[in-house]
Amino acid sequence: MKLTFLGTGAADWTDKDFVDGHEYRRWSSALIDGSLLIDPGPHIYHFAEKNGTSDMFGGIKSVIVTHSHKDHFSSETLKALSCEAGFRLYGDAACLRILKRELAEDELAKIGFTDVAPFDSFTTDDGYTITVLPSNHGTIDPLEKTHHYIIEKDGKRLFYGPDGAWLFYPAWQKMKGKHFDAMILEATVGYIPGDDRIFSHNTLPMLEIMLQTFRAQGCLDETSKVYCSHMAKTLHPAHKVLERELVPLGITPAYDGLSIEI
Ligand SMILES: [Zn+2]
Ligand SMILES: [Zn+2]
Repeated sequence: MKLTFLGTGAADWTDKDFVDGHEYRRWSSALIDGSLLIDPGPHIYHFAEKNGTSDMFGGIKSVIVTHSHKDHFSSETLKALSCEAGFRLYGDAACLRILKRELAEDELAKIGFTDVAPFDSFTTDDGYTITVLPSNHGTIDPLEKTHHYIIEKDGKRLFYGPDGAWLFYPAWQKMKGKHFDAMILEATVGYIPGDDRIFSHNTLPMLEIMLQTFRAQGCLDETSKVYCSHMAKTLHPAHKVLERELVPLGITPAYDGLSIEI
C-alpha cells in the first residue's frame, strides 16, 4: 500500500496559515494507492491544487470516515468527488444524516453509502479488508460512534488512529496479537500540559506509553513504521523541531504530501 498524507493538522489550522513546505498542515486526510480515501475533508482539493495533481482523485473507489467533525468530513468534498469518481462511502449513519441535510436528492443519489459500526469487518471493491474499531472521541451527534480503522491488503496491515484519545479496551482486544506494518497515531496535543483535549486526543507522553506496550506485546517490531498526524497548530513546535523531538520515541511526524510504502 502506498499512503499519501493529504493533511496532517488538527482543526485549529486555517487557510490563512498557508505557506509552501512542511510548516503548513491541512485538515487530516490520507489517500491509499489513489483508490481508498480516509476522511473526505474540505482541504483535499487545496492539496491537489497546490501540488499540481488535480487528477489525483479520479481513481477513488472507496471512502472511509473516522467521524463527522468538519475537519474530516465535508458534503461539498463528497459532492465534488462524486462528479469525478464512482465510489462507495463507508461510515457511521451520522454521515448520511449530514449528507441528507446538506445535499440535494440528485446529488445524494450519486453517493453509495454503507453504514458501518465498531467491530464490523468488510472488504471494499478495491480489495481492502477494513476492521472498524471504536475511538474515544465525540461529535455533537449523540448517536454517532467515532472510528479508528485497521486496513489490510496484500499481506500488510495498517492502524489508522486520528482522531481519538488512547484506546478503548475492546479496540485493544482486536489489536492484541496482531503485527502492524505501520501505525498512524494521532498527536493533537504534543507536550503541552493542562489542555483538556487530552480526553478526546493524544499527547506525546500518551503515545510513548502506548508504543512501549505495542512493542512489548509484538504489535510493532523493528520492521514497523510509526507516524503521528493531526498535530494542533498551537500545541506543537515547527516540523523540524518535532522531527528531532520524536526520534527517541521512534515516531516520524507526518507532513502534508509525505508518501509512505506499507
Ligand atoms: Zn480532527
Ligand atoms: Zn474530531
